Amino acid sequence: MKFIRVLFLFSFLVQGAFGQAPGKYVMVIHGGAGTILKSSMTPEREKAYRDELTKALQAGYKLLKAGKPSLDAVEAAIRVMEDSPLFNAGKGAVFTNEGRNELDAAIMDGKSLAAGSVAGVTTIRNPISSARAVMEKSEHVMMVGAGAEKFAKEAGLEIVDPKYFWTEDRWKGLLKARRDDSVKNLQNKKGGLLGTGNHDYKFGTVGAVALDKNGNLAAGTSTGGMTNKKFGRVGDAPIIGAGTYANKLVGISCTGWGEFFIRNVVAHDVAALMEYKGLSVKDAANELIMKKVPNLGGDGGLIALDKDGNVAMPFNTAGMYRGTVTRDGKIEVLIYKD
Ligand code: ASP
Repeated sequence: MKFIRVLFLFSFLVQGAFGQAPGKYVMVIHGGAGTILKSSMTPEREKAYRDELTKALQAGYKLLKAGKPSLDAVEAAIRVMEDSPLFNAGKGAVFTNEGRNELDAAIMDGKSLAAGSVAGVTTIRNPISSARAVMEKSEHVMMVGAGAEKFAKEAGLEIVDPKYFWTEDRWKGLLKARRDDSVKNLQNKKGGLLGTGNHDYKFGTVGAVALDKNGNLAAGTSTGGMTNKKFGRVGDAPIIGAGTYANKLVGISCTGWGEFFIRNVVAHDVAALMEYKGLSVKDAANELIMKKVPNLGGDGGLIALDKDGNVAMPFNTAGMYRGTVTRDGKIEVLIYKD
């Protein structure tokens, strides 16, 4: 009897703010996958990324700890990264072939399967919030271009001049991509889905998945897409089931060469493998990122968090900006394959 009482007391003590076993995760974020090598990173730049990812995790965790819904945490974390020029979302978005910034974003509530997304928007400061407005304030799931912008304005969201998204780094990235592409085009007339293999020009898409105190999951993704993308191109991020998905079992946000994530319906496939085949979140995520996506010729990574607080963050690129927070607030940020 005494033993049972001690056991009870122990389990009470180790139960933290979220009432589950210790060490479990309540939030995972990513800041994009790609050719991210330690050799090409300065200590200052690395620190800047680590700081910003930590800030995003803190913003989400603060809300979760206060008992707010996972949707709030996802939106808050993504807004931090959208406002940072370091990531390919919001302020740091990459340029299209025509020299514009066309943004995509999506958010999904695991409990109700409600979802909202925007694509090809050029004036909304925080596309993740406009995706949420589409979900909560319209009868639609997806809105694009000028219509999505008009709706965001009516919803009271901040509208900016398209110049707001201009950053020197991304502009130089476009010039380089255009140069490389024209050289490659000369060498290889075959071309590909996006011209000629310009899939190296993606990195920095952001995403978050959170689990709240009520056990509800939410996922969101926001991106500028791929450098030098053609006019009107939409990637996987705003397509529910491709780059973003959440249900009662798991939430997923993807990053990588979007066309391959759309063709593999990656985010939903992870959830389906778990639901129909009983795979763990790690096995399901690996199946997509280590097999299905590369088998078609694509690359990238994803983050996933299941209802029990287990996390998976596989990627088949050199690196992926990513971070987690446990239910007792322990933050970890990773960049390379370590
Ligand atoms: N998946 C994004 C897209 O294709 C790009 C990325 O994640 O870097 O639009």
